[in-house]
Amino acid sequence: MPSKSLLLLLLSSLLFIWLIVGADSVQSNLQPHWSDDESHFNRTLSNILVPRVVGSQGHQQVRNYLIQTLSDLGFKTDVDEFKQRVPIFGDLTFTNVLGCINPQAKNFLALSCHYDSKYFPNDPGFVGATDSAVPCAILLNTAKTLNSYLTAQFQNRTDLGLMLIFFDGEEAFKDWTNSDSVYGSRHLATKLARSRTGPSVGGQTPRTIDRIEVLVLLDLIGAPNPKFSSFYENTHALHRSLVEIEQRLRSSGQLEGNNNMFLNRPSGGFVDDDHRPFLEENVPILHLIATPFPDVWHTPRDNAANLHWPSIRNFNRIFRLFVYEYVRLHKQPVNLRYYRA
Ligand SMILES: [Zn+2]
Repeated sequence: MPSKSLLLLLLSSLLFIWLIVGADSVQSNLQPHWSDDESHFNRTLSNILVPRVVGSQGHQQVRNYLIQTLSDLGFKTDVDEFKQRVPIFGDLTFTNVLGCINPQAKNFLALSCHYDSKYFPNDPGFVGATDSAVPCAILLNTAKTLNSYLTAQFQNRTDLGLMLIFFDGEEAFKDWTNSDSVYGSRHLATKLARSRTGPSVGGQTPRTIDRIEVLVLLDLIGAPNPKFSSFYENTHALHRSLVEIEQRLRSSGQLEGNNNMFLNRPSGGFVDDDHRPFLEENVPILHLIATPFPDVWHTPRDNAANLHWPSIRNFNRIFRLFVYEYVRLHKQPVNLRYYRA
């Protein structure tokens, strides 16, 4: 009898393995269809699309909204709050907002954007729709539409977690310089580089910042006909996968219009942004910023009336599938770093 039950156990285990492997290989041949949730996107955007200069009431509202929304989506939330002296305003309190699914994981895919809006003395109503309200809404909509998949996946995984970062104080208060810009990301990169967390590697607890496999930074999205080139050689393959996803979705009739936004070419330049302090800490960067910049950039016309909805819907569909595929295909640590620590 014992040997018979052992045999049964063995057979059922084999069946189980076949089911798992079989199901996975079937799934990988199919194009999963993730439904849009436009009403969620619109609701989210309208909550963010207010003047939100650091220190203002709108800023505080948006910060609280981000924390609440992340928490509702099942993310463990955290804030990185600090005071700093800036031109014009003097001492200001900045707050980076972070959300994490599976914080105990070995490594992270980090998706980011900035949530503050730029201060213009002559335009107190500036809402920065493309800069960067739409990117914030895209990140939250991605988390919402993939929520059931992400929650189920990350229950049983130790290889990967998902981090959403909403940087504060990206905008210069006066003129853009290394010191009057990217206040939040400079603070957070320094903090994550100084702290050591997570499962030990070779007997050592890693720097928290080294657990980020790639920092994806979204900026200046929502205007018509955007073009995204590849800025960094070490993440070119990831950029290339966005190009391929766009082609796949377009050929299966899931995108609007026929403007390709992801270009399979190097940008040939550098655009300074929130990724700078992370780049300096050797974090691989995928910088998804429209170049050339939108016509409405840093003008009162960067508002809801001038957003191009087909481009936003297309971006959402492509980006959602990109995040899904990164999570699904991830089996072991991905090391794209330029140099080893
Ligand atoms: Zn800006």
